[in-house]
Amino acid sequence: MTEDPDYDAFDDPTRVACPANNCEHGDVRLSEYRGEDGESPVVLAGDCDSCGFSSVQCQECGDVTLFIDGDPRQCGGCDAVYQHELDRKGLSVSFRRVS
Ligand SMILES: [Zn+2]
Ligand SMILES: [Zn+2]
Repeated sequence: MTEDPDYDAFDDPTRVACPANNCEHGDVRLSEYRGEDGESPVVLAGDCDSCGFSSVQCQECGDVTLFIDGDPRQCGGCDAVYQHELDRKGLSVSFRRVS
């Protein structure tokens, strides 16, 4: 058995590196979001603990895509499209896959 202490910090699967261009050290804390109808696939998404932007981790390919201005975003690695919904303060309240 070999141990690599450098990887300990990345063992937590609920945290992924923030994909925002100017955010070098932020982690996105992922949570599971289910569609309102209860039948849509679970979406893993969350907010960066550094810059506060929201991102989604694609269930198909694992790519992490940043949301901007509430627009639907196509995954950087496949054809999946995700949408987040904002409340009046601009905070993400839910995430879902739309295509
Ligand atoms: Zn960030
Ligand atoms: Zn994808």
